[in-house]
Amino acid sequence: MAWSSSDPAQLGRGERIDGPETASIRGKVDPSTHRDEAGFPECPTAWRPQPSARGEGAKAGPPTVGACYVAPVPDPVTIAERIRRWPEHGVQGPLTLELYPTLRCNLDCRFCDTTERHRPGLPELSAQRQLELLEEAAELGVQRLFLLGGGEPLAARALTPALMARAKALGMEGILTTNGTLMGPELREQLVSTGWDEVHFSVDGPTAAIHDGLRGQPGCFRRVVTKICRLRALRDKRGAQLPRIALHFVLTRTNFHTLEDMVRLGHTLGAFRIDFDALIAYQPEQLALALQPHEQAQVPALARRAMALAERLGIATTLEHFLDPRNLHRGSDQGALVVETPAPAHGADDMLSQLRRAPCLKAWHYIVVQADGRTSPCCVLAGQGESVEQRSLVDVWRSGDFLEEIRAAMLAGTPPPRCSECSANILAHERVVRGLV
Ligand code: SF4
Repeated sequence: MAWSSSDPAQLGRGERIDGPETASIRGKVDPSTHRDEAGFPECPTAWRPQPSARGEGAKAGPPTVGACYVAPVPDPVTIAERIRRWPEHGVQGPLTLELYPTLRCNLDCRFCDTTERHRPGLPELSAQRQLELLEEAAELGVQRLFLLGGGEPLAARALTPALMARAKALGMEGILTTNGTLMGPELREQLVSTGWDEVHFSVDGPTAAIHDGLRGQPGCFRRVVTKICRLRALRDKRGAQLPRIALHFVLTRTNFHTLEDMVRLGHTLGAFRIDFDALIAYQPEQLALALQPHEQAQVPALARRAMALAERLGIATTLEHFLDPRNLHRGSDQGALVVETPAPAHGADDMLSQLRRAPCLKAWHYIVVQADGRTSPCCVLAGQGESVEQRSLVDVWRSGDFLEEIRAAMLAGTPPPRCSECSANILAHERVVRGLV
């Protein structure tokens, strides 16, 4: 299927930001000559990392602390409070629903194997069933909707905006993760006018050569940067605080040396946060992108410099996890990421004690529903649990075999083998929650 954006970027040419840390985006562009289709100043899309800016004022120092992102709702304290009710009050609902509206994607990212690019398409839940899921989620007490992965959520052109509108009507916090290329003016308007909370844009390099090389399509970098700028311009024009803008970055051998420049780009684009994550590599195409030992050895120092810059610029990151080389491997045979199991407390073996030493508590507070209806407690295990096509979300959450298996395995301190693919970012969050239970 040939995909094309309904909002083809009318891209300005030759604009450039020369001092990303200090320049305002629009300050470098003549608004009288650069307008987008909504009448906002066109964004500079030829951003270049500036050698002169490298390291200026940013001293390599101790790792930043406090870079760990805590979303406003539900925060770890709220999550822990709800988990603590399980032993006495029975099953409690999840706080977050992560929903993949579609498994289709308009790009061909070299490191991705969650879309349909490596397998035949799957039948997807109807729009009506996906909207019903939000009602069932609200019934369970879900407070946050994540719309992302599997495929590109905005490839479901009518469904994703409808899900977003319904989630907001239900009073949920909303987070959308997108490659950005299909974001048009109507969605931008909806994001700002409904107070959508966050948009996370996938950006895997600070230059077109790197980003487009990984995303499998020329012009992606220009388009995503333009879309971010347009969203920010509309939000700021309305005097709104939302949506907050974040970037997502996957570490590969083609971009590991760009961490500082990614922080500069994030600052230029107004990102409040950048999530840096390691690559899951087991397909040949992914293994070709995996860092070699001499490259891995450089990552902690690069991360430390980027952390210092991010701290100075006030951007939250997850770079602290790149200081430990074990976190650079997700499911590879080069040494597995450690899913820690705390030591048992003396004598206590009631459910609360077991929860307090479970390696991961996702299955008690989080549910993923893939576009084909299959469920799981997290994105890593996506597609493995019972479907909500015929069963209600409430029923699957309360008694789905797969979720029950994961809960039993975690209480026994024996996470399933695929947990070695988990993200250090997720595990860090789970550690915080566990410490509060
Ligand atoms: S993959 Fe990670 S988040 Fe998922 S169940 Fe395992 S440890 Fe938890």
